[in-house]
Amino acid sequence: MDLQPQNLNRRSFVLGGIPRWFHFFRRQELVHLSGVEFRFLRNKRGPRRYLVIHGDEDTASDVLTAYIKDQPGTAYTVTGKFRIVELQGVKIDPNRMYSREGAERSIRNLNPGLDVEKVIGVLNYLDHERPKLLRAFLPPRGGRLFALHNNRGYSMLDEIAASDETSLKQPDLPRNFFLCTDPHDFETLKKSPWNVVLQTRPDPDDGSFSRLAARLGVRYINLECAIGEYAAQMERVRWLDDHVT
Ligand SMILES: [Zn+2]
Repeated sequence: MDLQPQNLNRRSFVLGGIPRWFHFFRRQELVHLSGVEFRFLRNKRGPRRYLVIHGDEDTASDVLTAYIKDQPGTAYTVTGKFRIVELQGVKIDPNRMYSREGAERSIRNLNPGLDVEKVIGVLNYLDHERPKLLRAFLPPRGGRLFALHNNRGYSMLDEIAASDETSLKQPDLPRNFFLCTDPHDFETLKKSPWNVVLQTRPDPDDGSFSRLAARLGVRYINLECAIGEYAAQMERVRWLDDHVT
């Protein structure tokens, strides 16, 4: 896979001029967490955290950037354009960085034959950086992390076996669904017109935020929508924030 260097992202951002939405934010800046560059967006303070972690999920990024302009809370959107990021020349899925075990599996899958010392070096770096990453993404008491994703084929059907409970209100739209880790959030979401799964088990630990949230008892809600379905994703984001307090 062709990987875009982070300095190129930054350069494009600067050379691309100031985007129109820039003016809406009281505070927006670029931050680096675990070696990955994110745009930090906040207009009004609030306990809610929002995240787009995969760079090739443009719809999710566009929805979140537009949505957070007039909502309280803090959003982080990855600035790169690819799903996989590169740390010290090593490829990793950024949604597998939340545990050493999950990060190692992702690195070994994406970098076959990589020197073991190189693997250990990146894992040690991630261990060192993880507390800062978690301080950014973990919500304060009463808050939650809401992550927006897009897919190109993956669907709710892939998650049913790993789920405690499921509510499939839109069986013809399995690519658009919520995944939550808190049973109370599930109770609210299953009354919605949308698809939802509940996953409370922290194992197997694949290094994703959902497993970490299950382990820590943190409220985490993930929204998957088919890539390109901006209106569908925005509608679900608004529904969630209006109904899941
Ligand atoms: Zn994703």
